[in-house]
Amino acid sequence: MLKRFFSYYKPHKRLFIIDFTCAVFVAILELAFPLAVQKFIDDLLPSNNWNLIITVSALLLVVYLLSTFLQYIVTYWGHKLGVNIETDMRQDLFQHVQRQSFRFFDNTKTGHIMSRITNDLFDIGELAHHGPEDFFIAIMTFVGAFFFMFNINFQLSVILLIMVPVLIWLITYSNIKMNKAWKSMYEEIAEVNARVEDAVSGVRVVQSFTNEDFEMKRFTKDNYNFRKAKISAYKVMAFVHSNIYMMMRLMVLVVLVVGSWMVFNDRMEMGGLVAFVLFTNVLTSPIQKISALLELYPKGMAGFKRFTDLLDVQPDVVDRENAKPVKNLKGFISFHKVTFGYERTQGPVVKAMSFNINAGETVALVGPSGAGKTTISALIPRFYDVDSGQITIDGMDIRDMTKKSLREHIGIVQQDVFLFTGTLRENIAYGNHQATEREIREAARRAHLEEFINELPNGYETQVGERGLKLSGGQKQRIAIARMFLKNPPILILDEATSALDTETETIIQQALTDLSKNRTTIVIAHRLATIKNADRIMVVTKNGIEEDGNHEELLKRNGIFAHLHNVQMR
Ligand code: ADP
Ligand code: MG
Repeated sequence: MLKRFFSYYKPHKRLFIIDFTCAVFVAILELAFPLAVQKFIDDLLPSNNWNLIITVSALLLVVYLLSTFLQYIVTYWGHKLGVNIETDMRQDLFQHVQRQSFRFFDNTKTGHIMSRITNDLFDIGELAHHGPEDFFIAIMTFVGAFFFMFNINFQLSVILLIMVPVLIWLITYSNIKMNKAWKSMYEEIAEVNARVEDAVSGVRVVQSFTNEDFEMKRFTKDNYNFRKAKISAYKVMAFVHSNIYMMMRLMVLVVLVVGSWMVFNDRMEMGGLVAFVLFTNVLTSPIQKISALLELYPKGMAGFKRFTDLLDVQPDVVDRENAKPVKNLKGFISFHKVTFGYERTQGPVVKAMSFNINAGETVALVGPSGAGKTTISALIPRFYDVDSGQITIDGMDIRDMTKKSLREHIGIVQQDVFLFTGTLRENIAYGNHQATEREIREAARRAHLEEFINELPNGYETQVGERGLKLSGGQKQRIAIARMFLKNPPILILDEATSALDTETETIIQQALTDLSKNRTTIVIAHRLATIKNADRIMVVTKNGIEEDGNHEELLKRNGIFAHLHNVQMR
């Protein structure tokens, strides 16, 4: 775990070394101060030599200026190091989450993912900066201070040293407690995030059911659990801090009493006592550093643990070792005894299914909802991998192709179209970022978007998405189609693309879709049978698999499931 943490320092080695070196010098200068005071009181003061005092003071001033400068470097560059590491980790995580397969997103709450990428890493930067540096400096200052104290007075040092194990016990004890406390704090804030994410993206549903109070209640529960977790963490922290404070004062008090007695009895000089008190004070710094680390370390590590846990989730759809990038697939799709289920407990959704779709053919999948049509189409771009059997395109197992090259050959238009925050142009160009202005306009024209866009005051530069222009279902659908014209894939999957539209809009979009599916292998999943009349073939999918397969006329003649559905809809 620690080794893994330190591996993030590698790219920032130089920054770390500079920061660390400066910190060591600051610590050394810190130790020199009590010694200088001792010299002042015991040697310079009795000498009555004012010039010497001024010279030494000037020297001290230079030393302080240097120390100030070094502290500036440590604070600025040290934190820079921390932020760099935090940013690198966040980069890794975002990259990793994007590579996860659909199954991961089926089973993970969005709020939890958000939490991992943002909150969980907040304390990492601080830990990355202060962790190794403060730990080392604290030990160095501690040992250094005691070295000089032993030099000044042996007995008094021994008395002080006896109090140290108590401190160490306090520190270890609280470390364990804080670890637990911060871990549960992170878990609770992830719950809060998940709840907010749900309530905000579902706000329209919440309000239409007037369930605001209900949501508030659920949120309150999570939010108060978070509060409880965080407060108990701070309670442990307060306990530690106050006890450490008390130990520190106790140490100074002991030094004052025992030391004064020693000065009375000529066992120690005055300057020595003052230096000793100052050294006891210098000890505050390492002890405070350690107690701050006690807070930081478990907090940062709890976040880091959650970070690595997510980073270690392996996507279940990956490129095989010998996977090849493919080019110019024609689109001859074959299912060979394909079996697939989402979860073992639920049993397969697709059972030993076999069929062929010729290149350029338009095949419609119809059947009751929940029969597995979307599932079948999701297997082709490998959103999920088959459990057994195989799917080939142009005779090649799709698992022998790289995922990227396979997916470049497939376009999917669904019922819900996702628009990204940005302009209309950007949203259309999402289909192909290299598209020229002319190509974008051509795609918009073929998607029957042109008229609509030209009427907008800002045209292609109109902002859409979350905070932009709200588009109707049919307009969004046309953007999806324009994206497809730009992507220009040989295989096209239309999953209920027109199901949510009114008949009039549907007719326009149907034209665009027919144009789009020209010269492509097209799989149309449709609800309304009228829209698939012109399909080359129709496959009827039910829970039992593909029950009927033929063209419109053949299936009507057969007088089976399709004919029955057809009659119901035509009535
Ligand atoms: P259709 O598109 O024909 O309506 P689907 O392919 O969406 O049907 O669903 C087929 C079956 O698989 C249904 O029983 C559905 O509940 C289940 N299912 C669909 N998607 C998932 C998923 N992501 N995780 C688990 N089960 C799923
Ligand atoms: Mg479906």
